[in-house]
Amino acid sequence: MPDAAEQAVGEIGLVFALGIGAIVGSFLNVVAHRLPLGLSVVRPGSRCPACRTPVRAVDNVPVLSWLALRGRCRGCQGRISPRYAIVEILSALLAGWAFHVLVAQPELAGEFTAWAHWGVVLVVTSALLAASLIDLDHRILPNEITKRGMRAAPVICAFVPHVIIGHGGAPAWVPGAWPAPVQAAVVSIAGIAVGAGSIWGLGVIGTRVFKKEAMGFGDVKFLGLIGGFVGPAGALLTLVIAAFVGAVGGVGRLVLTGDRYIPFGPFLAVGAYIELLYARAPLDWYVAVMLSR
Ligand SMILES: [Zn+2]
Repeated sequence: MPDAAEQAVGEIGLVFALGIGAIVGSFLNVVAHRLPLGLSVVRPGSRCPACRTPVRAVDNVPVLSWLALRGRCRGCQGRISPRYAIVEILSALLAGWAFHVLVAQPELAGEFTAWAHWGVVLVVTSALLAASLIDLDHRILPNEITKRGMRAAPVICAFVPHVIIGHGGAPAWVPGAWPAPVQAAVVSIAGIAVGAGSIWGLGVIGTRVFKKEAMGFGDVKFLGLIGGFVGPAGALLTLVIAAFVGAVGGVGRLVLTGDRYIPFGPFLAVGAYIELLYARAPLDWYVAVMLSR
């Protein structure tokens, strides 16, 4: 049982994680809006989408400002989409849940590697969320996220090997004598190859079968980026989860909006978030359910 002090640290940490997630979400709204337009994501500061009045700092607090102003601009009273607040809440919840799983466990409490692991998952989750929003809006997964992510993944994994060889250790094909950073970088590169290769392969087959382009090259690079952080097995599991979630979500979207186009990026992002936190666990759970029949 954790003592009272440990529990207090865990609760303060969770509030911290939720707050960081909300602030990051606020930034992701800016990224999702400006990146596809080729604008700087840093300057100028946020403006009202209707009257272009710069948003004052006091009106730029995630979620709370939107609620306080009832979703309207202080200057022109124009409507500000609830999507901004929804993205901030979603980002907060994803960061908070990751903290709960990766840091706020009795056996991990206070361990630096657990915090570093959470930090990397926060960054990757942010990239997934921004890319998903852009895919929904513009039907593209931007190179600024996918290509840069693929280049960064092996380096980040070398610095924080726990991200990719944490729970079960490195896969059996990686020589155990290699230092952990080298193992992590090699698994990351293999994850990029398997992630990108699997969607590329599916695309080639799909194009032959359906006689039209079945998968965008953005999806290829996106699962490459994801594989760079979850490894080859994680990339394949991400694809399987995305296919399941996409079958349900795609039909729901078709019914709700009548739009036949199904952006695959958001579904890959859902699978990737699950893999970042749980690795083999979904597969073990599925096998256990099948065997118990
Ligand atoms: Zn305004």
